[in-house]
Amino acid sequence: MDWKKLSDLVLEGGRVMPEQALAILESPDAQLLEVLQGAYRIRRKYFGNSVSLHLLRNVKSGKCPEDCAFCSQSTSAINDVKRYDMQTVESIVEGAQAAVDRNAKRYCVVSSTRAPSPNELETICEAAVQIKRKHPQLEICSSLGLLTEEKALKLKAAGVNRFNHNLETSENYFPAVVTTHDFEDRVNTAKIVKKVGLDLCCGGLFGMGESLQDRVDLAFALAELDVDSVPVNFLDPRPGTPFHGKSNPLTPNDCLRALAMIRFVIPRTEVRIAGGRETTLRAIQPLALYPANSMFTAGYLTTGGQDYETDKRMIEDAGFQIEIPA
Ligand code: SF4
Repeated sequence: MDWKKLSDLVLEGGRVMPEQALAILESPDAQLLEVLQGAYRIRRKYFGNSVSLHLLRNVKSGKCPEDCAFCSQSTSAINDVKRYDMQTVESIVEGAQAAVDRNAKRYCVVSSTRAPSPNELETICEAAVQIKRKHPQLEICSSLGLLTEEKALKLKAAGVNRFNHNLETSENYFPAVVTTHDFEDRVNTAKIVKKVGLDLCCGGLFGMGESLQDRVDLAFALAELDVDSVPVNFLDPRPGTPFHGKSNPLTPNDCLRALAMIRFVIPRTEVRIAGGRETTLRAIQPLALYPANSMFTAGYLTTGGQDYETDKRMIEDAGFQIEIPA
């Protein structure tokens, strides 16, 4: 495959076909830099060399009744993850300062739940109102499980900009990962988010035993939903979860091919390097900035990560710039 020609096609407004996306994932290591160069040409057209940072806050931890096999926050996971109910409005608002201090474009407020209760929704909405008053430049993303249209409208009215709800994997592989809800449930919430005019952040997790075709199918399902942001996670098997002990088949180069494939398939969309970045990409993390234009900084929901100063140095050393919120 001529990767430059494929990127030319995308840059001229053409669409990558599923078999071409699969070819990216199957490409040999010897072609990796050409694949990345193709992805980078597309990334540069839409996002220049900027990197937007996101800071996560776990506002309700370890309390989820769902059974996603990778997730340490499911109540079925046996581990020492902190378990607490929804934090107060005050502490969620205070947490936004950490995002501002790290030049984050978005503050991502995440709750471990099947769906938000009326009280939880009220807490998030009140926190959003106060955060917007204090930090008008800071965008707010919330991730609260399954949504109804009514709840989505309340979040939007409170000033929440974006809602995260990942598809996680392909429709075909989904039952091997989750049994307490369906792929269709996730798609429905994603559609509601788009319908009410919130930005849709929707991505997945690679390395759970899915096939390369499943990864391609996920990318095309995301493209069909017209997602605004794609967080790309890589399995970091957590103690006490069904996937702990599963050997992660992803090499660092596989992660780069996965990010590049997403960039080719959904060219204009924000692509974010998410959980598992440090443990799976290891020393070649900076290369992920060629397809991706966004990343989480300073850790994840239940695991630590590279700190902000190290991330900043990595971004700048690689020739990219942090997007400073206006
Ligand atoms: S729905 Fe979310 S919080 Fe709950 S188990 Fe699945 S991934 Fe974890």
